[in-house]
Formats: sequence, C-alpha cells, structure tokens
Amino acid sequence: MSFRKWCGKQKFLFLFLFLRIEHANSKISDKSILNDGLDTGTPISKDEKMWTVDPTLCRHTTTCQEFSKQNPYVSFFCEGYIMWGPYAWFMIFITFPLIVLATILNYAFVLKNEALWLNVLTALIGIFTLILLCFTAFRDPGFIPRRPLCEDAPPNGYKGELDGEIWKWCATCNIWRPPTSKHCKQCDACVRMFDHHCPWTGNCVGQRNYNSFYSFIILLIIYIIVVIAEVLVIFRQKNDDFKESIFLFLVVFCGIVLFIVSVLFITLTCNISRGLTTNEILLDRYRYESSNFCENLTKHFRYFPSQIIFKNQNEEPIDSDDQL
Ligand SMILES: [Zn+2]
Ligand SMILES: [Zn+2]
Repeated sequence: MSFRKWCGKQKFLFLFLFLRIEHANSKISDKSILNDGLDTGTPISKDEKMWTVDPTLCRHTTTCQEFSKQNPYVSFFCEGYIMWGPYAWFMIFITFPLIVLATILNYAFVLKNEALWLNVLTALIGIFTLILLCFTAFRDPGFIPRRPLCEDAPPNGYKGELDGEIWKWCATCNIWRPPTSKHCKQCDACVRMFDHHCPWTGNCVGQRNYNSFYSFIILLIIYIIVVIAEVLVIFRQKNDDFKESIFLFLVVFCGIVLFIVSVLFITLTCNISRGLTTNEILLDRYRYESSNFCENLTKHFRYFPSQIIFKNQNEEPIDSDDQL
C-alpha cells in the first residue's frame, strides 16, 4: 500500500479525533438583512438550473463593527487586530494552559539547574509555538462578509459556473461561494479555502491562517520531542528528587499529544501534496488534484488580504492586511 493511500485511510481517524467534535449549540439562526435589490446573476438554463456567477459578490469588504453586527459570535478587539471567535475560550482555557502546564513541569523538575543554553533553547521553541497558536486562533481565517438579501437570490446550495469552476450560493451569507470555500456552522460564516474548524484553536483553518496553523503543528511536534527527550535523558538521572508521578505524567501526556499531532501533520501534508483541503477529502468533493507539491504549498500558503477592516468613528477605514 502506497504512503498516500495509507494517509487517505487515516482520514477517518483524523475525522474522529479532530473534525467532528460537534457542538450542540452550534446552530445559529439566519440573520436576514433587508433587500437592497442586489443582482445575483442569471440562470444559464431552467433545466440545468446553473447560474452564471457574479464573483464581485464575494470580494466586498466590511468593517469589524458591521461584521460583528451580522455575526454576533465573532468579535474584534485592539482596533481589529485580534479576532475572538465563538470557541476561542477552548483555546484560552484548554489548549494554551495544557502547553503551559507541560512547560512549567518541565522547567520545575527537569531543566532546573541544567545548562543555560538548554533552558533558553527550550523556552524559545515553546514561546514561538504559543505565538503561532495565537496567530491561528485570533486571526481572521478568511471570512467572506455577508451581503444584504436580494429578491432573485437562488436557493441555498444552488450551483453556478465561472471559468469552468463550480461556485455555490450561500443563502445565509447571500454570496456566491468560491470553490474550496464553505459555510462553517460553528462560526456561522463562509470561509475561503475552508480546511476544517479546529476546536483546539477555537477557530476555522482557512486561507488566511493555514500557514500559521501548519507551522504551529510542526513547531509543536518539535517542542514535544524536545520535552520528551529532556524528560527521558535528564529526569532519570536526578535520583535525589526523582518524582515518578511527574515523570509518568510528562511522558504519557506528551506521548499522547505527539501521536495525535503527528497524525494531523501527516494528514495535512498528504492533503497539501494532493492540492486539496481536508474538507474536500472528507466530503470526497473535488474535481481535480495536483501532484506538484511546491505549487500546492504555494496555493495553501498564499497570502490573502482580509475582507474585514477596522474603522474608527470619523476616521477612514484601516485596512486589516496587517492584522494578526
Ligand atoms: Zn455562508
Ligand atoms: Zn469555523
């Protein structure tokens, strides 16, 4: 069995572990907006029910304040630099503290009285891991702002064609959704190049934070390997104050996390190598795949400016390209 096929089979395990942690209260009601006579395109044929797509209907920008009005589950702080999604609390109270807890135990019982360079090196890897986690969790993943409701809008899920690609109409956001995008029911918004909604970061993984998420996973694996190596090599030698419970906790906890994150890393890397998102593979909905890894990597890591901008009262809007 080839490595790629093996990875494909692991998608169900990955699905179980990460992507289908459903939230009972995730259904959010549709916030309809009054009709402003927006033109949505025209059907190509009544029989085929395919519409020509107006791509401008998903390229508009909106302000942080307006976006939060349309979607009260997403808030912005610090002049729009920090985005707070509906499940950011999970990252704040679960994911972040777990990494910090392992770090504190490692410093208190393993690295105490060890060489300075080892302490600094471990601290730097840990700090950059947490920074990348924050970049993923508090960054606009590529939300497409909603448009006002229009009279001649097609029903939800209606398909349209543009340049040979299939676009879908989102009746909640009143926009034509580009290929690979999806309406995330947890965030209640359409997300560009939707990969999955990650409960551990409390945010969607999409076009604008895929690079930081992938980098976070790589750095987290490196950090866990470093901690496990330090525990196994140094902690065992400290016979004077050896605490078996701390030793077991660090080894078992880090071992479990390393296994889960490694599966995630292999899955994401396989997805990139095929030029597909996790969502496309899970739903088995894609028209073609590419085996050019560098080209696929560029596509997944490509920078896309945020469509959500910050606007102070009586001030010109500040483009949020430089946001977290
Ligand atoms: Zn939508
Ligand atoms: Zn989401």
